[in-house]
Amino acid sequence: MTTRSETQTTLDHLLTEIEHRNPAQPEFHQAAHEVLETLAPVVAARPEYAEPGLIERLVEPERQVIFRVPWQDDQGRVRVNRGFRVEFNSALGPYKGGLRFHPSVNLGVIKFLGFEQIFKNALTGLGIGGGKGGSDFDPHGRSDAEVMRFCQSFMTELYRHIGEHTDVPAGDIGVGGREIGYLFGQYRRITNRWEAGVLTGKGRGWGGSLIRPEATGYGNVLFAAAMMRERGEDLEGQTAVVSGSGNVAIYTIEKLTALGANAVTCSDSSGYVVDEKGIDLDLLKQIKEVECGRVDAYAERRGASARFVPGGSVWDVPADLALPSATQNELDENAAATLIRNGVKAVSEGANMPTTPEAVHLLQQAGVAFGPGKAANAGGVAVSALEMAQNHARTSWTAARVEEELADIMTSIHTTCHETAERYGAPGDYVTGANIAGFERVADAMLAQGVI
Ligand code: GLU
Repeated sequence: MTTRSETQTTLDHLLTEIEHRNPAQPEFHQAAHEVLETLAPVVAARPEYAEPGLIERLVEPERQVIFRVPWQDDQGRVRVNRGFRVEFNSALGPYKGGLRFHPSVNLGVIKFLGFEQIFKNALTGLGIGGGKGGSDFDPHGRSDAEVMRFCQSFMTELYRHIGEHTDVPAGDIGVGGREIGYLFGQYRRITNRWEAGVLTGKGRGWGGSLIRPEATGYGNVLFAAAMMRERGEDLEGQTAVVSGSGNVAIYTIEKLTALGANAVTCSDSSGYVVDEKGIDLDLLKQIKEVECGRVDAYAERRGASARFVPGGSVWDVPADLALPSATQNELDENAAATLIRNGVKAVSEGANMPTTPEAVHLLQQAGVAFGPGKAANAGGVAVSALEMAQNHARTSWTAARVEEELADIMTSIHTTCHETAERYGAPGDYVTGANIAGFERVADAMLAQGVI
C-alpha cells in the first residue's frame, strides 16, 4: 500500500517530466499541476490508478495537429496563420471542445484547454472525450468576407481530422455563430455530407440547439447558486462582479439578474464598466452583439449610474460574488486579496482557468467558496452534447426542455464535486472534488480499454 506522500512524490516527478517534455508551455504546465496536485488521495486509495503509465498516458494527447492556414485579406494580400487541433482523450466519447481564434493562441494554450476539457466533459456524464483547437488568427477588425475566407481555409485542412463520431469542435473565444456557420458550410461542401453533429453551436434554424449560446453563463450562475445554497444563502440581493463582455459574460449577467442578484460590471481589454443600477443587458447586447463595439460605449450611453474605468481591474469593485468570464489568469493574487478584503463569498469560473493558482489558494484559505471552471462552466459543453443528441435523433427540443436538462446537469456536477471532496477528506474543496471525480470517470474507462 503506497502512502499519500509517496504517491505525491511520484506525481511531483511526473510534473517535472511534463515540464521537460513540453517546454515553453506554461499554461499547460499550470493546468497539469492543478490537476495532479489534487490526485494523491485517490491514487493512494485505489491501487489500480497507480498502474504504471496511466497518468503518463492521461497527460499525453492522443493526437496533435498543427497546420498552415493561408488566406487572402480584402486587399488581396496573402496572410498566413497557424491552426491547431489537440485531440487529447477519447476514452469517454468523441473528442469534444471548442475552437479559439485569438492572437494569444499557441500549442501550449490549446493543450491546457484540451486537458481541462477532458475532466470537464467527464463531469457532465454525457459521453464526450476532450479536445480543443484554434488559431492565432485575430478576428477583431476583420470584415465578414475575411472571416469567411479564413474559416474556409481553416476547415479545408481540419475537415479530415473531425467527424460526428471522431471529433466535434464548437466555439470558444473569437468563434461564435458566424464562424461556426462558415466552418460548417465548408465542411459540408468538401465532404458532400449533411453531418449535423460534426460541429456544435450551429444556428437554430439548421441544427443548433436552443439555449446553447446561453448555456455556459447560465450554467455558471446555477453552479454559483448551488455553492451559495451549501452556505445557507441564495443569490437574491447579492452584488456580483462579472468580467468579460462576450457570450459567457452576457448570459452570466442575464441569469444573475433573473435570479435576483445585481450584476454591476463587465469588461474588455480596454477597461471595465461599473453600473450601480445593474448592467442593462439590452444595451450591452446591442453594443457587443449588434455593433461589435467596446464597453466604454456602454458607459457613454447608459447615463449617470455607469462609469468606465480605463485599464482598471474589475476585481476592485466590492461584491458578494465574482464570476470571471473573460480569459485565463485574469484574476491574480492581488485581485483575490482585494476581493477577500471586500467580503466576497463565492468565486465561480465562467472562463477556463481565469484564477491563478496563488489566487485560488488565497480564496480557499479565506473560506471563499471557489467553483473551478471545469465544473462551473461545464454547462456550455453539456448543452453541446445535448445538441449532438438532438442531431443524432433528427429532432429539436424546446428551450424549456434544454434549460431543465442543463439545470439537472449543473446540480449533479455540483453534488458530485461536493461529495467527492468530502469522500477524499477535503470538504468544501470543489477543485479537489472536480479533479478527482473527473479523473475517476476517465481513468476507469482508460483502464477498461487497455493500453492504447
Ligand atoms: N469552449 C467551450 C468550453 O470551454 C465549449 C466547448 C464545446 O461546446 O464543445 O467548454
